[in-house]
Amino acid sequence: MTAAPSDFGLIGLAVMGQNLVLNVESRGFAVSVYNRTPAATEAFVAAHPGKRITGHASLTAFVQSLSRPRRVMLMVKAGAAVDAVIEQLIPLLEQDDIIIDGGNSLYTDTERRDAWLTPLGLRFIGAGVSGGEEGARKGPSIMPGGPASTWAAMRPVFEAIAAQVDGQPCVVHIGPGGAGHYVKMIHNGIEYGDMQLICEAYALLQAAGLSNARMAAVFDQWNQGELQSYLIQITARALEQVDAETGRHVVDLILDKAGQKGTGQWTQLNAAENAVVISTINAAVEARVLSSQKDQRVAASGQLQGPAGRLEVDAERLITQVHDALFASKIVSYAQGLDLMRTMGAKKGWGLDLGAIAGIWRGGCIIRAQFLRHITAAYQADPGLQNLMLAPYFQTVLNRSQAAWRQVVAQAVSAGIPVPAFGASLAYFDSLRSARLPANLLQAQRDFFGAHTYERIDKPAGQWFHTAWPEVI
Ligand code: NAP
Repeated sequence: MTAAPSDFGLIGLAVMGQNLVLNVESRGFAVSVYNRTPAATEAFVAAHPGKRITGHASLTAFVQSLSRPRRVMLMVKAGAAVDAVIEQLIPLLEQDDIIIDGGNSLYTDTERRDAWLTPLGLRFIGAGVSGGEEGARKGPSIMPGGPASTWAAMRPVFEAIAAQVDGQPCVVHIGPGGAGHYVKMIHNGIEYGDMQLICEAYALLQAAGLSNARMAAVFDQWNQGELQSYLIQITARALEQVDAETGRHVVDLILDKAGQKGTGQWTQLNAAENAVVISTINAAVEARVLSSQKDQRVAASGQLQGPAGRLEVDAERLITQVHDALFASKIVSYAQGLDLMRTMGAKKGWGLDLGAIAGIWRGGCIIRAQFLRHITAAYQADPGLQNLMLAPYFQTVLNRSQAAWRQVVAQAVSAGIPVPAFGASLAYFDSLRSARLPANLLQAQRDFFGAHTYERIDKPAGQWFHTAWPEVI
């Protein structure tokens, strides 16, 4: 007897693929699975008896096991592996079958694959899947891009497996082509910013002499208020974790060299290409880079002089100030990330709904947080909002926090504690609220050495002037 066809197929049984399969199956779908190395397929199927999961050693058998139109999700290593799998799938698939790339693919690769597969009559979705292993298993935030008709075919599965917040699934059709993977990339850039800001808060509290246990309690307390988020929550738990071998806190034993897989750098490059300021995310990516240069830092620490990095301040006051600085900087970081999405969305004609995107980040993903609902509300109230910082709620928070924020950055600078993301965020805030910046002098310099001309404040806009500057030898 031939087995009933599966509703869904997944290729790539590493950590994300395995957990997604278990999630999909738990929502009532029969799933076929395939992995390049068959042993992984066998081990996975054997580890989950009694589930509607069928393993296949050949890609042909895998494809034949699926109901039509076939829905085949790829959770393989981003890059060449995705192309390799697609090439093998093409001769096996038929008109209208759907390939979903759920890995962290670069959005331009997704656009290229879309242009490759669409003329072949195949349907392609580039879907960002956030939330790591736990998200994949219990419900991720999903950011699918591709044609609206393909979204309609995938919607029942995506909505069933996504995280749910207030009865709403954390998935929405992001837009055509590479829009889904693009938004996932920005999500990751924002995640870099959030993480670095939390690390700077930790550095400041530590410099004031707070123990790990006390800091864990502070982060727990913050998690009850405006800063409530998954990252604040796990920070508290990480700070109190004790190493079984030494009895010391694990966080004190971890080498201070941060890793990265590249999505933050992709975000930086895209911002540079579009002339959008994402200084908080830039600072976060660069902080990871500098952290990784441990040997150079250790050598420089004995040669370059400065304060010892201690804060002799009232701890309770500092905790309140750092809270405000962290929240204000976080708002700046999101404002910058949203500005980049707004700019690219308009350039590409993607029709991005920024409020809806913030809405699907409320659950399932690493940056999930209470405050995202205020972003959704801000864009619902004003879909054309230019800068999140100017929405009434965020204006109020920033104006209320700015004095403490300054105190924190000033104290850090005086004490020699690096706070690149706090500082970059505050500088953006101050630049944005400056009706006049020193760019007048910059224009004078440009005109001086390159006759680039300038506009004048006492003449109508659009008239360009050049000065006969003195000759300098
Ligand atoms: P991964 O380590 O990125 O990739 C391993 C999987 O890719 C294995 O199944 C491997 O098969 C397969 N693979 C590699 N090269 C292949 C090739 N040339 N042909 C066919 N298959 C190939 O796995 P992952 O961590 O589960 O991540 C999967 C995707 O999700 C990636 O794009 C990743 O960036 C993204 N993602 C990961 C996370 C996370 O927390 N891990 C979170 C969000 C998104 P073999 O077993 O045969 O080697």
